[in-house]
Amino acid sequence: MEIRITKTTSPKQKPAKGEALGFGHIFTDHMFVMNYTEGKGWHDARIVPYGNISISPSAMVFHYGQEMFEGLKAYRDSKDNVYLFRPDMNAKRTNSTNKRLCIPQLPEEMFVEAVKAVVDIDRDWVPTDSGTSLYIRPFIIATDEFLGVAPSKTYLFMIILSPSGAYYESGLEPVGIWIEDEFVRAVKGGMGFAKTGGNYAASLIAQVKAHDSGYSQVLWLDGVERKYIEEVGAMNIFFKIAGKVVTPMLNGSILPGITRDSIIKVCKSWGYEVEERRISVDELVEAAQNGTLEEVFGTGTAAVVSPVNKLRYEDDVMNIGDGSIGELTQKLYDELTGIQWGEKEDPYGWRVTV
Ligand SMILES: *Cc1c(COP(=O)(O)O)cnc(C)c1O
Repeated sequence: MEIRITKTTSPKQKPAKGEALGFGHIFTDHMFVMNYTEGKGWHDARIVPYGNISISPSAMVFHYGQEMFEGLKAYRDSKDNVYLFRPDMNAKRTNSTNKRLCIPQLPEEMFVEAVKAVVDIDRDWVPTDSGTSLYIRPFIIATDEFLGVAPSKTYLFMIILSPSGAYYESGLEPVGIWIEDEFVRAVKGGMGFAKTGGNYAASLIAQVKAHDSGYSQVLWLDGVERKYIEEVGAMNIFFKIAGKVVTPMLNGSILPGITRDSIIKVCKSWGYEVEERRISVDELVEAAQNGTLEEVFGTGTAAVVSPVNKLRYEDDVMNIGDGSIGELTQKLYDELTGIQWGEKEDPYGWRVTV
């Protein structure tokens, strides 16, 4: 793929070493842009200075939400190598999302090449402080100027980059989770498995409700019976029950997380029995009561592994273990972040050098 490059003539001030970066509000000097036109395919790949774009108010994305996004990170090691983590998986997931949203397929090599090219141009923006990374946000929007309901014939594929802080500023911290029993996020046959804005739009109301009640995340139940565990806001969920690692199976209504897949592989390689199956909320309540609910953690690119110490369901509040970080949870966090930051062996070949 040929990528035309226009470098910025006024580079921005980079955050200082040690400065708190937070998440998702600082952007780098450049962005990747590529167009799609029916009959012509993907064309005009370019890297340009980061900035506003001009599109018509009638662009279809604004009206019916035809869009997709991805999320991954670039990590810097102590020798200034810059790595991506399993970007081929994001490329594959892009196409499974695209298929569901009637967005044209994007060749996997093109996706990975575009990510590498824009990260390379802005590699000085990959932060150096421990636990920090460069968050990468690829996305595609429908741009036809048309108010009819149909798949767009033109699209924009863009990649923007945002230096991000350690998810937990003061180290890994357990969170409390609200099991939502009124609203649902997705149903089988819907688009729960796709990474698209609409799923998030549908989730905000419960997120607000959970926050107002002092919980940091929502855990969704299945949309039909409101009985089976699905996933957390932007994370998949794992339980350690009586020594076994258990996580909801991919049933079409939950997002197939790349962190989820990695955690399953690592657990199996350590000899844990891993079950991907339906888990009812009643099973969790019972396991909490009889003391076999040993650990709970969420998994996703942003936090990697997020320990959970409290689950609220209706009138029950389940306290997990003694409220501190579970042993397996901590080991998994150390293993995965160790691989991502180039501090540990990578027996799986997951690191990709930029
Ligand atoms: C992105 C996302 C995840 C986590 O996926 P990773 O590939 O592990 O980052 C989980 N759930 C939802 C709804 C998501 O959008």
